[in-house]
Amino acid sequence: MLKVYNSLTRRLEQFEPLHEGFVGIYVCGPTVYGHSHVGHAKSYVSFDAVVRYLRFLGYRVRYVQNITDVGHLTDDADAGEDKVDVKARQMGVAPMEVAQLYTRSYFEDMDALNVQRPDISPCASGHIPEQIALIRKLVDGGHAYEVDGAVYFDVQSFPEYGRLSGRNLDELLEGTRVEARGDKRHPADFALWKKSEPGHIMRWDSPWGVGYPGWHIECSAMSMAYLGETFDIHGGGIENIFPHHEDEIAQAEAATGQQFVRYWLHNNMVTVDGQKMGKSLGNFITLKDAFAGRPPLDTPIRPMVMRYFILTSHYRSPLDFSMGALEAAGKGLERIENAVRRVRESLRGTVEGAPSGQIQQLLDETREKFLAEMDNDFNTAGAIGEMSAFTREVNRLMDEGDAVTRDGLEAVNQLYEQLGGQVLGIVTDESGRAVESAGIESDLVDAMLEVREDLRKAGHYELADGVRRRLSKLGVQVKDSADGPTWRFKKGAPS
Ligand SMILES: [Zn+2]
Repeated sequence: MLKVYNSLTRRLEQFEPLHEGFVGIYVCGPTVYGHSHVGHAKSYVSFDAVVRYLRFLGYRVRYVQNITDVGHLTDDADAGEDKVDVKARQMGVAPMEVAQLYTRSYFEDMDALNVQRPDISPCASGHIPEQIALIRKLVDGGHAYEVDGAVYFDVQSFPEYGRLSGRNLDELLEGTRVEARGDKRHPADFALWKKSEPGHIMRWDSPWGVGYPGWHIECSAMSMAYLGETFDIHGGGIENIFPHHEDEIAQAEAATGQQFVRYWLHNNMVTVDGQKMGKSLGNFITLKDAFAGRPPLDTPIRPMVMRYFILTSHYRSPLDFSMGALEAAGKGLERIENAVRRVRESLRGTVEGAPSGQIQQLLDETREKFLAEMDNDFNTAGAIGEMSAFTREVNRLMDEGDAVTRDGLEAVNQLYEQLGGQVLGIVTDESGRAVESAGIESDLVDAMLEVREDLRKAGHYELADGVRRRLSKLGVQVKDSADGPTWRFKKGAPS
């Protein structure tokens, strides 16, 4: 039974999707005005493990992660300049060139970290009509008001405002300087639509004049466009709980009258040698610099080691980035990789025979403990601990020798590929390619094999063999045993 910590209720809750067998998940994506850094790696590797595990459990998952290419201002709220515009001016290129350059860079880094691509990566500039429609609905419903070409959300019209972050409007009022209030009715009111200043290149016509959307509205508009008015999981960094996620809830729920998100998941931040990471502190580490070993680091970090390192802490815990910790992580990953290689190499020369009792018990126990860790709010730290303990036992049994048969080793390899590969994404297949979640394909293969069994029982052996040959051509290797058939994807096969 999967349990998740819901930031909205501040409790561990049993996960139940809105629609049986389907999970809709939205995670706030990057603002594409610079290369991704280790903080991005922690966030997106963590949610990658969440999505992989949901798929492993058999859910069909639609994972939406936006690309912010307009509307995110330099002070992260309603003031300052558009981050993409500022960068475009510095580089002497068009804002869209900046957005495209850093979108590509982002996916390059995520691919290196073996992060599976989202199913939909909508960008804000491509969803202006959806955002205008949502703002219009809020204005019509009395939840937003226009002042001189800008539109603000009226927080006093939404009594639930502050529920996620645990803040109330009186506190927010006290903390605000008078000059910061501007045209707003309440200082916590936030911009849905901004009037474009001269020189702002990314701008569109709207019912309120020429301008561009605020940062928060894109996430409400795009998540609901692809996942519906109510969906299962919304993820993001804890630094975005207020105001970004608070504002997303207000916009969506004021417009629809429905609950927006059922489970809010927030990942914690990265520190570097115990300090907050920041450009001004000289400890800002982009992923490209880390992978290449450029300053502030002096040794290249293998992307898979960084992935492993991130997963050795729980997503809700802060992660301290230091060379010492990364070296230790590298050794931990190598121990697993060496054992996987040893198992695969031994497969050829080992005697036939069913898995021994010892191996079978180890496999069953490991699987059970691993799944219990992942069921406990995606505790990848515990799951990696189980992988390491399993690796020690596999090595010990192989050293002793006699307990190990070919089928036993195949089962060990399969467990590595499923739990270490499909779920954690730290084990690759025999050709060095990432082991992907099998998703619906595995259900289809199971269904085909059931049909084949029925054919055999009915005496249609030729047809049954035909099914097996067809599967083999698709790269599925079927093995028959006394307990019925088992199967796996062959090396290099489509998956
Ligand atoms: Zn967002």
